[in-house]
Amino acid sequence: MSWDAVIVGAGPAGLSAALNLARARRRVLVLDSNRPRNSATFHAHGFLSRDGISPLELRRLGREELEAYPEASYETSPVELVETSQAGFTITHKNGVAEASTVILATGLRELPPTLPSLRAFYGTSAHSCMECDGYEYADKPIALIGETDDLAERALLMSQWSRDLIVFTNGVGAVTPADEARLAGLGIRVDRRAVTDVAGDRSGITGVVLADGSTVPRVGVFVRPQYEAVLDFAASLALHRDHEGLVLVDPDGRASVPGVYAMGDVTPPGPQQLIVAAGTGARVAAALNRDLLGFHEAPPVR
Ligand SMILES: Cc1cc2nc3c(=O)[nH]c(=O)nc-3n(C[C@H](O)[C@H](O)[C@H](O)COP(=O)(O)OP(=O)(O)OC[C@H]3O[C@@H](n4cnc5c(N)ncnc54)[C@H](O)[C@@H]3O)c2cc1C
Repeated sequence: MSWDAVIVGAGPAGLSAALNLARARRRVLVLDSNRPRNSATFHAHGFLSRDGISPLELRRLGREELEAYPEASYETSPVELVETSQAGFTITHKNGVAEASTVILATGLRELPPTLPSLRAFYGTSAHSCMECDGYEYADKPIALIGETDDLAERALLMSQWSRDLIVFTNGVGAVTPADEARLAGLGIRVDRRAVTDVAGDRSGITGVVLADGSTVPRVGVFVRPQYEAVLDFAASLALHRDHEGLVLVDPDGRASVPGVYAMGDVTPPGPQQLIVAAGTGARVAAALNRDLLGFHEAPPVR
């Protein structure tokens, strides 16, 4: 049996695409490795009608809705290889092999946060990466931004919308120009270029940022600027066009550079966004794919 679509990844992007394809009476198989990037957090914010829900509960509800449709099937089984074949694509996963006319990549990103020994213990509760997701809870509170990238000043400016009691820790690496530093100072935001060794905390959460000189700067919340990577080794043989960060290049409806391959959610530019955005792209890609299978679309190449 060949599926109309196999979806790799069951985050909000994958589940939303699957739901909409099932409702278009497309036979769809969802394969997931059960490693959601947001599982560290207890509360996901900003998803209309579900503000504050546990991300795992959101996922459970999505899966439950999907599995009510006989057109859809869901397996927890990591995908190991996707290759072109006579049917379209052959998808080898841990539990077996599937054939499909189309493949949708919705695998999200792997996050590489700064290597601070205690960060993991607080990640998702008082250490975060997404200001739009978790900034509201820190309104006007003493917080820190820790990162080593050259977009720290831009991030700090964004964070000032929630709190100006903000210190930017560059760890001696992140580039903040003197002009940016002066602009931030005008908002009351300080830049600290000393080496950071850890975060301090107790049962209430983070209490400070620990520096190499032995001092601890009191803070109640920390936002980190992680690096991200798209892990798509399983699709290497497709030779998809990707950008300089490894994200899959797609047209506005999620068509990738190989006909029959679609991608959506965080694995596509501009990278990490929000749950509802990922779910939205899923619905959009499903509509496009359904039409493409009817021969509606002559896709221009994605570059
Ligand atoms: C700590 C944290 C907190 C966050 N809080 C919020 C918030 O409050 N509000 C908000 O809107 N957003 C939040 N986000 C962002 C949000 O989680 C993401 O933008 C969203 O989950 C992206 O959806 P996605 O479907 O693209 O990818 P993901 O949700 O990352 O899902 C990708 C799925 O693909 C699976 N997968 C990967 N590789 C394979 C493979 N080879 N085979 C099979 N399956 C595979 C993974 O297991 C995973 O289930 C948060 C993120 C983090 C890290």
